[in-house]
Amino acid sequence: MRMKWKPLPIVLMLMMGAGMPCRGEASPWPQGIQQVLDHTPWLTFSRGNTLPLYLWPARNPGTLDRAVLIKLLTELDRRGIGLVSSWFPNQVEASLETALPVARLQKELGLMVNIDATSMLYSFFDGSEETAHLDATGKPFFDDTFGSANMGCPFRLEQRIAPMKARLQAVIDVYKKEALPVDFVFADWEVDGPIEWNESWKASQRCTVCLEHLKGAPFEGYQQALRAIRSRLQRVVYAEPMRAAFPKTLVGNYAVYPHDGYRYWYDYFEKYVEGQPARMEGHARYRPWAHEFEDTGYTFAMPVVYPWSWTWNWYDFEQGDYRWFYNGLLVASNAGKHTPAETPIISFVHYHTVDVGLSERLAGPPEKAGKARQMSEFAYRELLWHLLLRGTDTFFLWCTEEENVKEIELLFPVYAASRQFGPFWEKGTPITFEVPKEPGTVISGLRLDRSVLIRRTDFTGNAGPVSIVIEGQEVAVPAHPGETQIITLK
Ligand SMILES: [Zn+2]
Repeated sequence: MRMKWKPLPIVLMLMMGAGMPCRGEASPWPQGIQQVLDHTPWLTFSRGNTLPLYLWPARNPGTLDRAVLIKLLTELDRRGIGLVSSWFPNQVEASLETALPVARLQKELGLMVNIDATSMLYSFFDGSEETAHLDATGKPFFDDTFGSANMGCPFRLEQRIAPMKARLQAVIDVYKKEALPVDFVFADWEVDGPIEWNESWKASQRCTVCLEHLKGAPFEGYQQALRAIRSRLQRVVYAEPMRAAFPKTLVGNYAVYPHDGYRYWYDYFEKYVEGQPARMEGHARYRPWAHEFEDTGYTFAMPVVYPWSWTWNWYDFEQGDYRWFYNGLLVASNAGKHTPAETPIISFVHYHTVDVGLSERLAGPPEKAGKARQMSEFAYRELLWHLLLRGTDTFFLWCTEEENVKEIELLFPVYAASRQFGPFWEKGTPITFEVPKEPGTVISGLRLDRSVLIRRTDFTGNAGPVSIVIEGQEVAVPAHPGETQIITLK
C-alpha cells in the first residue's frame, strides 16, 4: 500500500521543471496548488515507505491533460506531498471526471490514491421530519444549539443508513470496476450525527423517543449511547464499505482517535454547559470522552492539534507560547500513548490562532478573558517535531486560503527535514508521553534499538544538560536548540 518510489521514464524526467509555470504566470491548476509548488522544494531525503504529507490546498486539481497531470503528480511526489481528490454525492459525475484521471495516474506512477470523502458523509441529519426529536404531543423538533445543523434524534437515524451507504458504494464500484485502489481516505465529518454536548441532553429530555431509549440514564450513559450510535454510523456507512472494497486502505475521520478517556480540546461548534462532567485544570474543563475509535473500524487515528483561541485563557503561564504548546502536546501525547503502534496517526495541524471567541470555555467572568497572542513560529516548529516523536506519522494541514503560504512555509520544512531519520519513523518507539505542567524543558524521542532520536526544547532558557531515564538507563541530554539529536544507549 505504501508504495516505494519508482523511477520515472527518462522522457518524463526531462519534462519536469521545464514546463512549470513561473510565479505570476497562469497555472493550469488552482492557485492553492500553485502556492504549494511555489513554497516547497524537492525533498533532499527520500520519504521511503513513510506516508506523504497532506495539505488542504493540495486537493482537486481540476480537469487537466494527461501530460500536465503527470507533471503535477510528479512535482508533488518529489516534495513528498500527496494529491487528494474529493468525492461529492450531489455531483458524482463531475467529481469523478476529475478524480478518476488522478487515481489512474497515481496507480500508474506507483503513488497512493488519496480520497477526501467528507461530503459523502453529510448529512445523516438531513433536516427531514423522520430524523427529528418528537415532543410529548408528537410534534417534531430539532436542537439548534450547534449552529445551522439540523441536529435531530439520535435514535431515529436508522433509516438514513441504507441511502447513505448506497451512494458511497456507487462511487466505490466505479473504482472497483477499473481496478483502481483507494490507499488513503479521510473525512472531515463533525457537526452531524449524535453529539452529547451543547444542549443536546436537554433536547433529549424533551423527546419521547430519546426518553424511552435512555430509561433515566445519567449523562455518562447518555454519552455512551450516543457515541455508540455515532461510531456505528461511521463504521457501517463508511469504514466497512471502504475496507471491503480496498482491504489495505487507510480510512479515518477528523478528531476520531484512541485516548485516555478525556478530550483536551473543544471543537468550534462545542460549548460547555454547566453541570456536565469535566475535569478542571486552570480554567480548562477537560471533558470525559467515550472510546469511540475502537467501534468505527478506522485504520488510522486523526487527532486535531490547533491553537483554538479560547485555549489561551485556560492557562496562565507567563511564557505565553507554552499555553499553546502545552495543550498541543497534551492532545498529541494522549493520541500517541493510546494508539496501537501498527495504527498510523495522521494529525491535523494548524499554526494561526483559530478565532473561536475567548471566554466561552473560561470558568469565571468573561471580562477576565484576555486576547490570545499568536503562537510563535519557534513554538509551532518545535511542537511539530515533538508530535512526530510521540507517534504522529504524518501531518494533514488544514488552513484557509489566505493562510496557505505561511502555513506551508512553516510545516513543510519540518516534514522535509524529518525524513532524513527514515528508520525511526518506520520502526521507532516513543520514549515518553510526559507533558511538563510548567514551562521548562520538554523532551521527546523515538528509540530504535540502541539509538534514540531526541528533540529537546527549552522554554525558560535552560542550557545545561538534563537527565532522563530510557530503558532503565540514565541519559544526559545536552541542549541543542533547534536541532534533533541521536543519542546512543550503552
Ligand atoms: Zn430524540
